Amino acid sequence: MANKRDYYEVLGVNKNATEAELKKAYRKMAMKYHPDQNQGDKEAEEKFKEVNEAYEVLSDSQKRAQYDQFGHAAFEQGGMGGGGLQGFDMGDLGDIFGSMFGFGGFGGGGSARRNGPRKGRDVNVNIQLTFEEAVFGCKKEISVAIFDECDTCHGTGAKEGTHAESCPNCNGTGQERVVQQSMFGAVTSVRTCSKCGGTGKVIKDPCNTCKGTGKVRKTKKYEVNVPKGIDNGQTIRLAGKGEIGENGGGYGDLLVTVYVQPNRVFVRKGYDIYCDVPITFVQAALGGEIIIKTIDGEQKYTIKPGTQPDTVVTLKGVGVPNLRNPKARGNQIVTLKVKIPTDMTERQKDLLRQFYGDTTSNGPVEPEPMKEEKKSFTEKMKDGFKDLFD
Ligand SMILES: [Zn+2]
Ligand SMILES: [Zn+2]
Repeated sequence: MANKRDYYEVLGVNKNATEAELKKAYRKMAMKYHPDQNQGDKEAEEKFKEVNEAYEVLSDSQKRAQYDQFGHAAFEQGGMGGGGLQGFDMGDLGDIFGSMFGFGGFGGGGSARRNGPRKGRDVNVNIQLTFEEAVFGCKKEISVAIFDECDTCHGTGAKEGTHAESCPNCNGTGQERVVQQSMFGAVTSVRTCSKCGGTGKVIKDPCNTCKGTGKVRKTKKYEVNVPKGIDNGQTIRLAGKGEIGENGGGYGDLLVTVYVQPNRVFVRKGYDIYCDVPITFVQAALGGEIIIKTIDGEQKYTIKPGTQPDTVVTLKGVGVPNLRNPKARGNQIVTLKVKIPTDMTERQKDLLRQFYGDTTSNGPVEPEPMKEEKKSFTEKMKDGFKDLFD
């Protein structure tokens, strides 16, 4: 498939086109290139296929998002491959074989019925949380533009006082049968009715508010209860708060994905919180009491005499609450960073020399085995995953 045209170009709309604009453009193009109007015109047939393919992608918000991001490459792998069957789903295939062999298609068919009830689309929104909001949970107001029933026509798409009529092209089924030549010979296939776009209805006098689609974008406000312990990238599902469906198919869901801003000092891994705390080399040598900041406030900690650099201490139960059981909390993992002073007075230096003596070593220093590197790769992997699963 060389030089595929841009789908937006195919339908003659711009990249920000609304669903209603897409539908309108699709109807116009499908009408223009419809095989009934262009008998035997190969070019029109190709155009018709192209228009159907473009609409099939752009009318599906998920596919559209993929297309916007990756272009045609989004559908090249694992797609239908050859040109002949493009634009058909399994329902259509079922019908092809059904009409050839006289049975009802795969798995009981039904999926080709485009004018049956269809659930509305799920809608994705992102929210930003601070580190603390994610740890302790919060309530967030969000407002989101979602397709909902048009109040003027109550979803019928028809102007007040009029009503939608059954589509004469498909007798209200939303599908039309097309005879095509293929490697099986003449094959009847079923596709979305090009006159009504699969709704099974035609509207002579469209509602002015929704241009006949029965749907309008409404800005809705919701309060989202963000549970304690939620982590970056996780999603909260608000059932039934998505887009309105077709023919009474119910609403989709609203999927709220959280993005957590990094904290200046705390790093979260699973339900544990990691941080570095500086101590002086005198505290490390002699021991002493320090105060460590936690997400709950402050906690006293007693340094043992002779503490080595990068000693790791665990403050139990002051980590992140477990999402499923908020009473269970992770820990705070503190690495004690021994700071060596760089601005000592002459008197301080003298005292150290008195204590340690000469700082020049007489012989070679015996190297020590390296601590961190001794762990095998798999051990490190296990450590890494432990955070995720406990
Ligand atoms: Zn309306
Ligand atoms: Zn129709």
